[in-house]
Amino acid sequence: MFRTPLVLMVMILLLSAQAMAFPIHSPVPGGVNLLAVAPVTAKRPIVHYQGQRVTVVPYQNEWVAAIGIPLDASPGTHNIAVTHPVTRQQFNAPFEVADKYYRTQRLTIRNKNKVNPNHSSTQRIIRELAIQKNIKQHFSERDVQMNFITPVSGRDSGRFGLKRIMNGQPRNPHSGMDIAAASGTPVRSAANGVVLHTGNFFFSGNVVYVDHGSGVISMYAHLSSINVRPGDSVRQGAIVGNVGQTGRATGPHLHWSIYLNGQAIDPALFTQKNY
Ligand SMILES: [Zn+2]
Repeated sequence: MFRTPLVLMVMILLLSAQAMAFPIHSPVPGGVNLLAVAPVTAKRPIVHYQGQRVTVVPYQNEWVAAIGIPLDASPGTHNIAVTHPVTRQQFNAPFEVADKYYRTQRLTIRNKNKVNPNHSSTQRIIRELAIQKNIKQHFSERDVQMNFITPVSGRDSGRFGLKRIMNGQPRNPHSGMDIAAASGTPVRSAANGVVLHTGNFFFSGNVVYVDHGSGVISMYAHLSSINVRPGDSVRQGAIVGNVGQTGRATGPHLHWSIYLNGQAIDPALFTQKNY
């Protein structure tokens, strides 16, 4: 007889904990800046940053913009453009980007073509960069679930933002989080969403991109196998593929990226860890 209210109370607590889940505010290159732009009593504003649509979500009593800051952003004052969805009135909202130091990681890649690609590989990379840029910038109006889970448990083998030296040569900084796990370990969707793209890329190997709505995209790379197809709806925790070492990888691991307004940001901020 007294059980029902207790169960109800726990459920309410769990629901409110979910509603509260949010990436950590970290206004640095590769971080997420959370900026309140309007009260929730108003219509959801349309926000742009550097020409890209920005994720806007309700939080407590406000519409909050979750702005992905590029890893190569300069510290200083940045601006978003906030547009009223009906009147089209627009204003700029400034925010400060602080500096962040990222460490260097040295890697030895056995397949030399993955470090110094030959002509045909270079042509392939150029084509794939254009495809991947398009995917990262995808924006759908669906609401986004912000309480992400880590897609696989394993050893931290390369944090986001590491400056990379491969076979002694500088390469692009690390645009995701690497989690080492045994080949074949199931990889789970970090949140509810729709599969946006699957394929095989020169550097990323077998990949799955999931569109979580409102401009939040996640990517799972180096998979040994892919379990989903574009257009599939996935629930949080659904298996999208398995850990592997396809593409440019030194061993079996998951490379996990999250994109906001087309920019890779530190996935650790979405799982409430701030390194
Ligand atoms: Zn990686």
